[in-house]
This record gives sequence, C-alpha cells and structure tokens, in this order.
Amino acid sequence: DIASYPTQQGPQRIEHYRVAHQQGRIAALNMLGKRELYDRVPFFWTAHYGTRYEYLGHATEWDEFHLLGSLPDKRFIAFYGQQGRLAAVCSAGMYTLTAALVEHMQQPMTVAQGIALFEDYQG
Ligand SMILES: Cc1cc2nc3c(=O)[nH]c(=O)nc-3n(C[C@H](O)[C@H](O)[C@H](O)COP(=O)(O)OP(=O)(O)OC[C@H]3O[C@@H](n4cnc5c(N)ncnc54)[C@H](O)[C@@H]3O)c2cc1C
Repeated sequence: DIASYPTQQGPQRIEHYRVAHQQGRIAALNMLGKRELYDRVPFFWTAHYGTRYEYLGHATEWDEFHLLGSLPDKRFIAFYGQQGRLAAVCSAGMYTLTAALVEHMQQPMTVAQGIALFEDYQG
C-alpha cells in the first residue's frame, strides 16, 4: 500500500488490506505483460471494541453528508457525496446493504440512489 496510482480524482494512495490484496494481484499480472487497471471500489472493514465498521469508496472531501440509522445501536450508514455523486459510505451493522452497495458503486451513482437502496433494505 505504499504505491500511489492514477484515478479520475488524481493520484491516490489508500492503506487498506483489501486494496493491497487487489493491487498486488494487478501488479503481478502487469509484470507478466497484461494491461490491467485498478478499477474496484475501495473497501475496508475494521473492528473496534466488538463493533465492525465498514467503509466503501474514498472521499477526502465531500459537500453532502447524510447519516441514517442509529449510532447508539451501532446500526447506521453515512453517505458522503461530492458534486452530486456518492463518493463514500461508512457503516456498521448493515452488512447485506454494504455488500450490495459495493457492487452498485462500481458504476457512478448519486447519494439519492444510495439512500433509496438503504430504504429498500429497511423494507
Ligand atoms: C495498526 C494498523 C491497523 C490497521 N488496520 C487496518 C484495518 O482494520 N483494515 C484495513 O483494511 N487495513 C488496516 N491497516 C492497513 C493494512 O495493514 C495495510 O493497508 C496492508 O497491510 C498493506 O499491505 P501491503 O502488502 O502493501 O504491505 P505490508 O502488509 O506492510 O507488507 C509489506 C511486507 O514487506 C516486508 N518488507 C519490507 N521491506 C522489505 C525488504 N527490504 N525486504 C523484504 N521484505 C520487506 C515487510 O516486512 C512486510 O511483511 C492497518 C495498518 C496498521 C499499521
């Protein structure tokens, strides 16, 4: 995870286990002469005092923020938007939703679309 790589938002360097695994595989393929780009939605999880938190995407800055669910119950999701686009999500206790979101976020989506998916998963 010491390597920076180009993205549409400029050079990025993300220190996550999963990103390091994905990029190690891509680096090896490129050393073997393939031409593979890193195009996955960054994802990591971490656990603190018995609670697992998940983070999808990558937002160094944002102009829109929505927190849904309950922080005291450790069952929440926070949406970070940048210029109308869903840039990142931080959550706890919503693992089925975040598994779906990581797939949906492979294509650009709006914060409103993320919130609509949250509402689908509540129903
Ligand atoms: C305290 C801490 C907590 C973290 N928690 C999380 C978390 O909860 N979730 C998450 O997604 N990420 C977490 N991370 C980040 C994650 O650990 C890194 O993103 C990931 O380990 C990077 O993998 P890597 O293979 O690029 O590098 P590393 O895992 O650092 O592997 C590099 C390897 O190269 C070896 N090496 C270095 N120099 C040489 C040399 N000259 N010759 C031979 N070998 C050498 C090192 O000994 C090491 O084994 C955490 C990091 C820290 C420090």
